[in-house]
Amino acid sequence: MDVFSREKRSEIMSRVSGKNTRPELVVRSLLHQLGFRFRLHRADLPGKPDIVLPGRKKAIFVHGCFWHGHQGCARSRRPSSNESFWSAKLDKNIMRDKVNLVALESLGWRVKVLWTCEIRDLVGLQEDLISFLENKIDGRQL
Ligand SMILES: [Zn+2]
Repeated sequence: MDVFSREKRSEIMSRVSGKNTRPELVVRSLLHQLGFRFRLHRADLPGKPDIVLPGRKKAIFVHGCFWHGHQGCARSRRPSSNESFWSAKLDKNIMRDKVNLVALESLGWRVKVLWTCEIRDLVGLQEDLISFLENKIDGRQL
């Protein structure tokens, strides 16, 4: 028998699959509080953005610093053992993210990437989200 309850197990599995992670839930509840309407994990869009605001044509990714290679971030430090394995794997993620971003933008979407290390500063995050969603500023330049 599973040592975890069904709820706990599905919570763990959802974390493993990279969906509905805690930082993502923080962003979602913040958006909700701010009164924005959004959709989740639109599979028909490149990269399956975590959060999509179809009316505004804006997409938000919540990226884990390690897996998506947050540049200059302490959390994205690569393991020193098995180096070639990790750099191949992580470089592939980074490349895929770039391809998806370009694809989304060419479809007319504005894209914002939030890094999990940024999600601790809720005040800053809120300002960031509002300026991305309300203004015409490209999320990438923020
Ligand atoms: Zn980071």
